[in-house]
Amino acid sequence: MADPSSLIREEIRSIQPYNAGLTLEEVRATYQVETIAKLGSNENPLGPSPALRRLFSDIGELARLYPDPQGRALCTRLATSFGVDSRQVILGNGSEDLIGVICRSVVRPGDTVATLYPSFPLHEDYTALMGGRIERVPVTQDLTIDMAALLAAVARKPRMLMFSNPMNPVGCWLTPDDLAELIAALDAQTLLVVDEAYAEYAAGDEYASAIGMLKGKGIPWVVLRTFSKAYGLAGLRIGYGIVSDGGLCDFFNRARTPFNTNAIAQASAAAALDDPDHLVQSVNAAIEERERMKTALATTGYRSAPSKGNFLFVDVGQSATDLAAALLERGVIVKPWKQPGFERFIRVSIGTREENDHFLRALRDAEGMGETPHRR
Ligand SMILES: *Cc1c(COP(=O)(O)O)cnc(C)c1O
Repeated sequence: MADPSSLIREEIRSIQPYNAGLTLEEVRATYQVETIAKLGSNENPLGPSPALRRLFSDIGELARLYPDPQGRALCTRLATSFGVDSRQVILGNGSEDLIGVICRSVVRPGDTVATLYPSFPLHEDYTALMGGRIERVPVTQDLTIDMAALLAAVARKPRMLMFSNPMNPVGCWLTPDDLAELIAALDAQTLLVVDEAYAEYAAGDEYASAIGMLKGKGIPWVVLRTFSKAYGLAGLRIGYGIVSDGGLCDFFNRARTPFNTNAIAQASAAAALDDPDHLVQSVNAAIEERERMKTALATTGYRSAPSKGNFLFVDVGQSATDLAAALLERGVIVKPWKQPGFERFIRVSIGTREENDHFLRALRDAEGMGETPHRR
């Protein structure tokens, strides 16, 4: 057969396959390890609310019928809790689905999309798919968001500014004052997309969701949220966007598949919202363990970035890919960063106390094997 790649658009050929991380089955089969700490994908170690077990015991009817294509019951609940109109809420098959929907709707060939760097790969990939041009705003030496550079990027009036806050993979975030300054600097020609996948972990005085700050500002915006992280529903694939106005949201609805979120995911998200105690417990456990891990890492000479997520971005002082391979042999899955300038960093999710100790032990052990790490 002839080489089929000539059929494919250049924008797709130039994208790297998404690095989704390893499954437990793959690691078990390849490394013959019994106990595995899966700390590569920022999942919630407590899993979903126990309320979901009841839902799943009676799943036949949900599986048989087509879902509500808009997920109206869930949208209405979300709209009420955020004080917006239900027409301003859009559901996605995970929030990554909505990143694609937004890029398909807005990005034309040659458009500039500004984002933070190191980046969440899908913010760049869906831009590239549409023929857009990425402008990266790198973090500072201290691994914080470079406000001056971000404001300079905004002043050039990109088609879109899309970034995560708290920021994946680093964990840093914009203070409420910085966010207010950024919003004031934005022009109505630029669509602001704030990906708040980790907002539930960040709540407190030092962090503010963009939703409350953007209302009534007269610029177009989308804030993305997900049930995959703090709600523990990563496998069900459901996320949502809050959009500046219903008219803009209607256009995004045209760019998705009609039944993009399934009935089981919609019902599970509603059940998760019914159990706020489980959310609080998940968030508190993650924060306590994150701080314990950060201290333990610092004690052994590893610098990690300030983080308000359920993960740490750690300078391992050597090839992160090599270290991650050594950790896999010891039953620990982490994500080695591969973007230029950050190849000495791993992103490790906060698991249960046992998983985190497993990681710390494996790290000490792996370090003894390889080259002596360079310490900062
Ligand atoms: C995990 C993550 C997502 C993906 O969430 P899904 O709802 O599972 O698609 C989106 N954005 C960021 C920044 C994330 O870290």
